[in-house]
Amino acid sequence: MTVKIGQLFIGGEWQDAQSGKRIPVMNPANEEIVAEVAAGEEADVDRAVVAARRAFDSGPWSKMAPSERASLVWKLADLLAKYTPEMAELETSQTGKTLFDSGKIEMPVAVEVFRYYAGWATKVHGETLPSRPTAFTFTLREPIGVVAAITPWNFPFLLASWKIAPALALGNTVILKPASQTPLTALRFAEICQEAGLPEGVFNVVTGSGSKCGMALVRHPGVDKVAFTGSTEVGKQIMREAAGTIKRLSLELGGKSPNIVFADADVDAAVRGALTGIFYNKGEVCAAGSRLFVEEPIHDQLVEKLKAKAATLTVGDPRDKNTRMGPVVSAEQMKSVLDYVEKGKREGAKLVFGGARANVGNGKGFYVQPTVFDNVTNDMTIAREEIFGPVLSTIPFKDFESGVAQGNATIYGLAAAVWTRDIKKALRAAKMLRAGTVWVNTYNLYDPNLPFGGFKQSGFGRELGTQAIDLYTETKSVWVDLS
Ligand code: NAD
Repeated sequence: MTVKIGQLFIGGEWQDAQSGKRIPVMNPANEEIVAEVAAGEEADVDRAVVAARRAFDSGPWSKMAPSERASLVWKLADLLAKYTPEMAELETSQTGKTLFDSGKIEMPVAVEVFRYYAGWATKVHGETLPSRPTAFTFTLREPIGVVAAITPWNFPFLLASWKIAPALALGNTVILKPASQTPLTALRFAEICQEAGLPEGVFNVVTGSGSKCGMALVRHPGVDKVAFTGSTEVGKQIMREAAGTIKRLSLELGGKSPNIVFADADVDAAVRGALTGIFYNKGEVCAAGSRLFVEEPIHDQLVEKLKAKAATLTVGDPRDKNTRMGPVVSAEQMKSVLDYVEKGKREGAKLVFGGARANVGNGKGFYVQPTVFDNVTNDMTIAREEIFGPVLSTIPFKDFESGVAQGNATIYGLAAAVWTRDIKKALRAAKMLRAGTVWVNTYNLYDPNLPFGGFKQSGFGRELGTQAIDLYTETKSVWVDLS
């Protein structure tokens, strides 16, 4: 591995952080420190903004022929495909996700996202619009400028790709601030940008804490847009701070998504979907189906099957082929998840599986058992707050109306799913659910073509698909007088 892990990538060069401070990166599977990265602060953010501004304002990027930009973004995809095994190793070492998930699922999707937006570089255009006979009026679609991408630790590179690929393809320059727990793939990607021949300053990485490095980007007058994925709490802070400079914002925030199983569903398929919905990536998924609503007639049968299947999930070393669930990302996260389990018990939910730290290997690592609660009510803490770990709350419901109404009774609105063999019921529910994505008879599927984002306090703006074009362009009206 050649990543310049102790430095920041600014203006095409590897630079030291001014403070000289470092942040350790821990492998949650064995608690070993795998790297120390630079703790970037305000002065470093300043340098990154100067570099990104120069590359945008006077540099080649925004003025380059779209076809040339398209080939460079496509080349990034080719290199990411080539370096997938290495990127997957890095991702697994800092997140605890299985190598299968990082290498066979997430990296291939990230590559597709780069290819998808490489295609859009040559296809985004304005319109001619009729106004009056004595005028020629049209619009131009232009890049916004310098984009700060601030990303979380659960899908470090995948979620960065959702921002970087459209931003670059459409002519913006980018400063990426990865989560301090998981900065390694961002730094390796900076090297990939060098290898692809991206002009200096077009892509920059500053590592550091959210409060110092992230906030400095949000406040900086030289940043035109902040693309943020993370918690709702930090999203609110960013919204407040971004007001000072009226920055463009897109916010992808938390969730407490309902996964609703009707009595006429294929129960085995629904059980598989419930498990994927909550245990994929150890439940550290913004769209996790953390509230499982089950219609009363099939409730007992479904919970029995769920318990049996949960018992077959292997918790262990994320590099082992047999592992389905690696460790959660940090000691802090493990504590928070286990505290929620205690709250669930105290508030009267019935623990039917798991609920404790899992014993793996030599006792090191932040492993949590897949955990299933039953007889949860929608007003309990574990049904209201995002746990962001492998904890499922099962909630029985009486009929269609109450299932959907309870599903909607949350401050969030990121995703939802319904399981039924009745197409009318499925589509009625899909229309009634207040969520940015609704899956029918499946869970946790994503595609570069399908917009993703939240209703309510899950954020605003849609990443992926053609909707992301709006997030990374300004529309300009041009009025030519013909009289
Ligand atoms: P977080 O909000 O703590 O941090 C996200 C990023 O913001 C990190 O890079 C962090 O360093 C930075 N940050 C923290 N405080 C900041 C501040 N004051 N100013 C600027 N930047 C700051 O979130 P996390 O714990 O890394 O990730 C988990 C959260 O992300 C969960 O709530 C999850 O639901 C959410 N998430 C949402 C989506 C989505 O697409 N909606 C996807 C993944 C994760």
